[in-house]
Amino acid sequence: MKNTIAIVGRPNVGKSTLFNRLVGQRKAIMDNESGVTRDRHYGYGDWTGKYFTVIDTGGYVHNSEDIFEGEINKQVKLAIEEADVVLFMVDVDSGLHHLDEEFANVLRRYQGKKPMYLVANKADTNVRAHAAGEFYALGIGDGEIFPISSQSGSGTGDLLDAVVSHF
Ligand code: GDP
Ligand code: MG
Repeated sequence: MKNTIAIVGRPNVGKSTLFNRLVGQRKAIMDNESGVTRDRHYGYGDWTGKYFTVIDTGGYVHNSEDIFEGEINKQVKLAIEEADVVLFMVDVDSGLHHLDEEFANVLRRYQGKKPMYLVANKADTNVRAHAAGEFYALGIGDGEIFPISSQSGSGTGDLLDAVVSHF
């Protein structure tokens, strides 16, 4: 698929909320087809006239706060294989989490192969947006962090501008 964006990150950071915002109602029918797609969701969106596919990883298989190493490897591998741009999402409300570091450790192996953006979600207020600085330590992306609120949509325009520049 052309122009594909994958959203990865630990559970509860807001991946699905961003996915829903980006795709609106345009979810793929293949969602319900088979076990192959059970752990991820595909949807379609557009921004400034550019069309893209979005993959929401970590779908519905676990609502747990926890996630195993094998699952992290699987999700990252899938994102790298299928996506042109990878969004690594963290949560400024809860702050840096050991699972963010585990995701970053795996993602870093692929850095340079695919554009990666560090997305600091739940930056609902300016104070929270400034708290995003602590995630620089993860060493993902080119030193820029995109603070966004998937809930309100703030910051998502700047993020999409950067993402669709690759399309
Ligand atoms: P996922 O597990 O990464 O897919 O996370 P979800 O999209 O299911 O969101 C987890 C929780 O975070 C839900 O209760 C969301 O309503 C909440 N959430 C998502 N985005 C935001 C945001 O921008 N701000 C706030 N305050 N909460 C958010
Ligand atoms: Mg989800």
